[in-house]
Amino acid sequence: MTLPFKIQADAGPARQARIHTAHGDVETPAFMPVGTAGTVKAVPQDILEDLGAQIILGNTYHLYLRPGHELVRKMGGLHKFMSWERALLTDSGGFQVFSLSELRKVKEEGVSFRSHLDGTSHLFTPERSMEIQIALGADIVMAFDECMEHPAERERARASMEMTLRWAKRSKDYFEAHKHECPWGDRVIGRSENQNPNHKGHEGTQKERIVDNAQPRAVVPRELATPLPRPPALFGIVQGGMYADLRRESAERTVELDFPGYAIGGLSVGESRAKTMDMIAAVLEILPKDKPRYVMGVGYPEEIVQYAAMGVDMMDCVLPTRAARHGLLFTSEGRINIKNARYAQDQGPADPKCACRVCSRYTRAYLRHLFVSAEPLAGVLNTVHNLAFYLDTMRSVRHAITLGDLSGILSGGVSLT
Ligand SMILES: [Zn+2]
Repeated sequence: MTLPFKIQADAGPARQARIHTAHGDVETPAFMPVGTAGTVKAVPQDILEDLGAQIILGNTYHLYLRPGHELVRKMGGLHKFMSWERALLTDSGGFQVFSLSELRKVKEEGVSFRSHLDGTSHLFTPERSMEIQIALGADIVMAFDECMEHPAERERARASMEMTLRWAKRSKDYFEAHKHECPWGDRVIGRSENQNPNHKGHEGTQKERIVDNAQPRAVVPRELATPLPRPPALFGIVQGGMYADLRRESAERTVELDFPGYAIGGLSVGESRAKTMDMIAAVLEILPKDKPRYVMGVGYPEEIVQYAAMGVDMMDCVLPTRAARHGLLFTSEGRINIKNARYAQDQGPADPKCACRVCSRYTRAYLRHLFVSAEPLAGVLNTVHNLAFYLDTMRSVRHAITLGDLSGILSGGVSLT
């Protein structure tokens, strides 16, 4: 086992669990802020820690193009490069290749594309994506999948699903052969447990490491010849477009490949919310209950609560951060657009029920002034509040699961639009 996942409580299909990574524990259901280019835009790492983020995303496509994965490897991996000691997940790069790059061409081998930055030509294959993600050193690595256009005809969706399965096998083969090359191994070994705040209080951490990582590596110097830390884990991705039977088949065949966690990709691409839920429900029936399940790229606050209630453990989305930079705030009273003139003299906080550092200190009037003046602080404060709202929402969901009752939070504990 490379990624211990311990279910601590459940409420119907929802579960409250803990994922144990080499960079600390992640309490689930978890919302993961997106740190595209080695930064959650506008938010310093110490504030992310204060907000309670236990895991964030890095984007393979962006980091590969700039500053380059080999540079990040030389800097000790993404954790060290960006000074983030908690858990990291990297996507496969596929989604951005399909959404950002130009002149992309999909073949069995992989996807050739031109950089959106400078037009240079590149090729992503499953093996290349694994090589890049291992160099970046994420705790959780994603298999390389095809992100299909939407809508798609059934035969097209099937063909894409089949290729994603072949790519999943190639991803796994390369990953298993190379996962011990991740750059953070020696750094974690080289310091004592109590230097890493994420490992405090987790009895058994050291013991589990020894059990899981008994395999020695030749390059470890004699003075560091202790057992290796936990290697990264690779998640498979279920595809299948908007066809429930293809989704189920994709789930069954991805599970046959035996990953320590599973993601559901290709959703929230323009389909109705009811369709998204149908696809998630179809796949959750198949995925093993004792492994983490991750729905990629969702969603609004009320959606992530709903999916957690269905038994989803991990979610990520650019929405809270991107919307913040456009002046859209998520609050217990619904969404507000801070640039609206009605807030010009509003002495209240962004969200009267939020205890975040922004709502504790600043008025809506000031936030509006910053935004309409195009002050950089506007993006910072708006993003901090929105992330606080999302992370607090998931904290409330976890608490409700431990109490065995999600009905309150599903029926309005989180404000809808
Ligand atoms: Zn707030």
